[in-house]
Amino acid sequence: MLKDQDRIFTNLYGMHDRSLKGAMKRGHWNGTADIIKRGRDTIIEQVKASGLRGRGGAGFPTGLKWSFMPKQSDGRPSYLVVNADESEPGTCKDREIMRHDPHTLIEGCLIASFAMNANTCYIYIRGEYIREREALQAAIDECYDAGLLGKNAAKSGWDFDLYLHHGAGAYICGEETALLESLEGKKGMPRMKPPFPAGSGLYGCPTTVNNVESIAVVPTILRRGSDWFASFGRPNNTGTKLFGISGHVMQPCVVEEAMSIPLKELLDRHCGGVRGGWKNLKAVIPGGSSVPLLTQAQCDDAIMDFDWLREQRSGLGTAAVIVMDQSTDVIKAIWRLSKFYKHESCGQCTPCREGTGWMMRVMDRLVRGEAEVEEIDMLLSVTKQVEGHTICALGDAAAWPIQGLIRAFRDEIEDRIKAKKTGRISAVAAE
Ligand code: SF4
Repeated sequence: MLKDQDRIFTNLYGMHDRSLKGAMKRGHWNGTADIIKRGRDTIIEQVKASGLRGRGGAGFPTGLKWSFMPKQSDGRPSYLVVNADESEPGTCKDREIMRHDPHTLIEGCLIASFAMNANTCYIYIRGEYIREREALQAAIDECYDAGLLGKNAAKSGWDFDLYLHHGAGAYICGEETALLESLEGKKGMPRMKPPFPAGSGLYGCPTTVNNVESIAVVPTILRRGSDWFASFGRPNNTGTKLFGISGHVMQPCVVEEAMSIPLKELLDRHCGGVRGGWKNLKAVIPGGSSVPLLTQAQCDDAIMDFDWLREQRSGLGTAAVIVMDQSTDVIKAIWRLSKFYKHESCGQCTPCREGTGWMMRVMDRLVRGEAEVEEIDMLLSVTKQVEGHTICALGDAAAWPIQGLIRAFRDEIEDRIKAKKTGRISAVAAE
């Protein structure tokens, strides 16, 4: 179990003073100027050595991503953009950072921006996060007043401005290029890649988009050392991580734990276990709604990290763990996700625009058992035609949960269709 002295987020539950004074007491903003004086290359090397991988879902190595930014400006400014859109269903970790421990993020923005030669950083926060943006804005104002932001930020010799931008609450704006479009004042629609943001991002300038947690952990990594961070978790899956656990556990929570913690330990230790006991577990979505679910048998040995979950054809995603016990109509649960993705598709590319609606309608009939058994394979083939054939990952996100469902619960789907045909069940209403 992660010891208290190894927690990066020391005010995750808002039990302590979240103001600048309180944050400083807990060790934040300690020696920030000295960290910056280590220089760009050293900071990037140290972040690389820590093994930090992006906490927003894709798990791309953070230090490596930073190193793609140009070392010398060609006249264009560079930008850091922090993705605080957090719209993936089940995900609720970044909000705890922003409302209770905002200084971890602000200090991280300064250091990361310096490392990428950016004098300006934007935090793009989802529109529904009202209390969070109030807390974060108050913290930013405090930092300006204290000289930690602005000219010669934190006496580091680096001029740095930080802006908080409110989104309007569209899921697709969590996709990094749609986020940039939205930030520029346009409709939030993903861009074709290449060019990648490091070459041409916000306003056509070099840009890195990072998740809130990825940036907020950086100051502590640099203060305590890459080796300290790398000592948690398995190789290639290092560090501490925020997990957000919801669904059928006794006490849903957000908790910071060591990466690679076994799923069972995570649920038993922090959530009071699965409702009705471990044997009552049916399935778990381990990383937010877009990753395929794990069956109970997989959950027995599940290790919560990027590589183990990928080997199981699932993913760590945002580490939003959605627990479903035996009372769950798992077909209906996945249908609900299909409905969500259909609603959130921006409609730009045909396989996603048409496919998400198509998949949702078939799922709707599967929930009610009003389908032919052959349609299960047809649905699977549609998911394959959507997957990998779209501009952004929303197409994949819509396809994967259904693929996971069919892989793990084909019997249950078939039983429902057969039972419906023989009149053994009444229709399950899809709302
Ligand atoms: Fe839009 Fe879907 Fe295409 Fe993404 S995959 S760009 S959400 S239509």
